[in-house]
Amino acid sequence: MGADFRAVRNGMLAALHLIFPPRCIGCGGAVTDDFGLCAACWRETDFISGLVCDKCGVPLPGKNEGRAELCDECLTIARPWDRGRAAILYRDTGRRLVLALKHGDRLDLVPPLGAWLARAAEPILLPDMLVAPVPLHRWRLLKRRYNQAALLSGALARAAGLDHCPDLLA
Ligand SMILES: [Zn+2]
Ligand SMILES: [Zn+2]
Repeated sequence: MGADFRAVRNGMLAALHLIFPPRCIGCGGAVTDDFGLCAACWRETDFISGLVCDKCGVPLPGKNEGRAELCDECLTIARPWDRGRAAILYRDTGRRLVLALKHGDRLDLVPPLGAWLARAAEPILLPDMLVAPVPLHRWRLLKRRYNQAALLSGALARAAGLDHCPDLLA
């Protein structure tokens, strides 16, 4: 990206902020950056970090010592995938954001959630990986109007610099 383009883009962003000041993606309150959370929503968002189950990404007690650990559920239920990660716990702000994306047409949430996913998935991403979403059933697609999983996987792929194949799976 050239310096000229950046200057133009920054100028446009500044102009845009005069009309539309940046809003918290969780509650709509004023924030300083686009696609950010206010302090209160940030506190109520459980970002997953530390030791996690290598298959489903739930947080586990203990320290991350670089060994793959599995949660009780993944030890007893055969998962049809090898490794997995999750960015946030499905409660409080995290739950609100997911529901807003799924049912509230909040497409503005796609870039920040995609970036969070890319960060959470970073330990298991490999160069030249192909990113693909879980397909949505046709009637659900009609109801939800978008395949939110495909929007998220596209944002994840962009954030991680990987190729995206939205219709890989049927
Ligand atoms: Zn907020
Ligand atoms: Zn698990």
